[in-house]
Amino acid sequence: MRQIIAANWKMNGLAGPSQSLATALRDAAPSLGCELIVCPPFTQLAAVGATLRGSAVSLGAQDCHQDAAGPHTGDIAAPMLAECGVRYVILGHSERRLNHGEIDETVRQKAKAAMAAGLVPIVCVGESADQRAGGEHQDTVGWMIEGSLPEGFAGILAYEPVWAIGSGRVATTDDVAEMHGFIRGELARQFPQAPVPILYGGSVKPDNAAVILAVPDVGGALVGGASLDAEEFLAIARAAAPG
Ligand code: PEP
Repeated sequence: MRQIIAANWKMNGLAGPSQSLATALRDAAPSLGCELIVCPPFTQLAAVGATLRGSAVSLGAQDCHQDAAGPHTGDIAAPMLAECGVRYVILGHSERRLNHGEIDETVRQKAKAAMAAGLVPIVCVGESADQRAGGEHQDTVGWMIEGSLPEGFAGILAYEPVWAIGSGRVATTDDVAEMHGFIRGELARQFPQAPVPILYGGSVKPDNAAVILAVPDVGGALVGGASLDAEEFLAIARAAAPG
């Protein structure tokens, strides 16, 4: 399976820069040995989707509501994303868990809604600095997987230690290997039916991508800050193991 390199633009991207970035990735994608996913903010989905249409780069969103429609001011439903040409949706990112009070059960409902709309959920899990310091990282992530993934989960998991996101602190390759091995075992135990790629996320940059992407059970990377610069993001994509 080819590695997946996914860009999480977060709350960044007015029209001009979004188009430049999407065009650069679209043009470079055929020479890469990995899958590229771009997750712009909602306001850029249609325009970025038009630029990427027919290319090797897939379109993703950064969240969806758990209901298919209804009185949820400001929210976006999974069928709306699907209609917009979206194929993937990031769910349960730690910024949503922290800033919007999302709990595992919410994430599980959202993942169900995404799959029902034909989308592929990218569900994020990861321990806080305190949980790691207390030696609770495996238990925390094991419970998050159990609580956040619905029965019959057919998607992608992103292991993103919260302390590594946007901080410049990267997990060591030993930590990544330990956690991805643990997650692989949990997925096999809890969801034996599906091969779930496991992405690493947390301050992945061009200078550390190759060693992280070479760790066993790392199926790719979810990239925040470095995904806003075409050259940096493409350098990470070029570091992906050939599929
Ligand atoms: C993220 O937000 O998913 C992420 C991994 O961010 P960063 O690469 O900036 O740490």
